[in-house]
Amino acid sequence: MPDYIVSARKYRPATFSSVVGQTALTATLKNAINTGKLANTYLFCGPRGVGKTTCARIFAKTINCTNRTPDGEACGECESCRSFNSELRSYNVFELDAASNNSVDDIRTLTEQVRIPPMNGKYKVYIIDEVHMLSTSAFNAFLKTLEEPPKYAIFILATTEKHKIIPTILSRCQIYDFGRISNADITAHLKAVAEKEGITTEPEALAIIAEKSDGGMRDALSIFDQVTSFTNGQVTYAKTIENLNVIDYDYYFRLTDMFLEKRISDSLLLLNDILGKGFDGSHLISGLMLHLRNLLVSRDPVTLPLLEVSDEMRERYKAQAAKCQPKFLYRALKILNDCDLNYRVSKNKRLLVELALIQAAQADEDDDSSGRKPARLRPVFNKTAARLQSSRSAGNQVQATPTPQTQPRSQSGLNARNDALSGNPSQVQPASGMSPVIPDRKQAVPTVKSDKLFTSIYGNSVSPINKKTGIPGKDHTPAAASDAALNDPASARPAKPLTDDLLTIHWQEFAASLPRQDTPLKNRMINCKTTVLSPDKFDVFVGNHMVADEINASRERILAHIRESFNNPAIEMTVSVDESRNMDHILTRDEQYARMKEANPSIKELEKVFSLELH
Ligand SMILES: [Zn+2]
Repeated sequence: MPDYIVSARKYRPATFSSVVGQTALTATLKNAINTGKLANTYLFCGPRGVGKTTCARIFAKTINCTNRTPDGEACGECESCRSFNSELRSYNVFELDAASNNSVDDIRTLTEQVRIPPMNGKYKVYIIDEVHMLSTSAFNAFLKTLEEPPKYAIFILATTEKHKIIPTILSRCQIYDFGRISNADITAHLKAVAEKEGITTEPEALAIIAEKSDGGMRDALSIFDQVTSFTNGQVTYAKTIENLNVIDYDYYFRLTDMFLEKRISDSLLLLNDILGKGFDGSHLISGLMLHLRNLLVSRDPVTLPLLEVSDEMRERYKAQAAKCQPKFLYRALKILNDCDLNYRVSKNKRLLVELALIQAAQADEDDDSSGRKPARLRPVFNKTAARLQSSRSAGNQVQATPTPQTQPRSQSGLNARNDALSGNPSQVQPASGMSPVIPDRKQAVPTVKSDKLFTSIYGNSVSPINKKTGIPGKDHTPAAASDAALNDPASARPAKPLTDDLLTIHWQEFAASLPRQDTPLKNRMINCKTTVLSPDKFDVFVGNHMVADEINASRERILAHIRESFNNPAIEMTVSVDESRNMDHILTRDEQYARMKEANPSIKELEKVFSLELH
């Protein structure tokens, strides 16, 4: 193929009507040209590859065409159109790529050109691509021209990042927002291109390409070119997913069936299978999220149009969606979303994904499947709570014992007792005013039922932490904490042995269950290394004193969770700081990012491939 032209260029639209997926927008532009109501400056915003530059070029060509067709398109034959179509391009159209020409000098050269009126044709059109890349001084230099442009000059600024355009420029532009192109539009266009090129395609394969392109036609066409050459013009589903490294849809359908049938072991084996094929766990999680989302929209005829898949696939989704309760879908989505958020920072990514699958397989269980009857027990607690409250205030007034607060965050009576229980005198809090209320201390230790380990986030179990410090888990009411306590006497069960593996699970589980306002703590905890020192003692190894302080500040709720999880109130925690790294100052964002790159070289790779930058 000596004259091979990539499809994105070969099939670049030459008229407004051939632009795919931007009908409303092209109609408006056409209308503006026909009525002669042209602005001086346009701003075309939108994601990459959705037709901004293409529309800018068509616009430039059309306004200079001397013989427009009745429906407002350029004729393609007049002198202006022909010069535009030639490689040299029209003298009246200038394109500047601000990504590589972003200096003041570049803008000066351009503004000097603006002063010269067009030799033929009516308008000179300046297309400035990636305009957000202009330096501030270049922006300012450009502003002067935008303020008083000659009548014949029209500027079309294109950007993927509208928020980076300074307001003074924005206010001078007529703004057009280009949306992503729908998968249906993309597949239809790819099909048309394939037919012209004599390439055979399977609808599923085109759907995958459309999905991969994320609403950008240019990307879709270049992926299509890539797959076409890989498959020798036979674009089948199997070859496409192989070439694009996409996880087969079938896996998602099978995993979802496994969740519904609670076949946890099968789902873990399937995960092993998928990872064995070289796929990344995060791929699976995000694909699975999309799958569940698709199931969710398939349940309701109203949202069915949101499902951007082929007809055959649509039927498959509808069939599986009929088997899913909305509650299952919401919860499973939440579980996977949490997994997705934690994936990047997790030390044990595989375990994280496995946990998510196990949780998802339990997502449709009822909250009260444990047979508890909270309604009956709550009044018991309410009385206790009232007495606790009164004795607390009484204690404050009457006792007036000066009690130094070594751990200022410890305001919960339950926690205090918990510490007292641990037998560590340094941690005994001034709980004397409350302790007579519940004489049996052991009963006061609320516990997470171990068999509910994986569902604890969803309110089946709770941790004994008061509202001020934040309870891990959904059920924040103290009443529920008491329910768990009264219902599940800790003394009835033997302690679980403290092992590194189990400790890691409970540690990460606690971190994962932290509410939004605790995100910093959550991220720190995920990165900590825990080591079991003795049957009742473990150490947390952290990078610097700041992290150590944060862990210590939340020591009680962390310990409470660990103690409950192991059913061992004697467990103690030490926090040790890695002194070898002098990281005691607070890292700047750049430093953090540099460290992230150091720790994980694939970030550097990502940065390169997607030309990312830190904002
Ligand atoms: Zn023309």
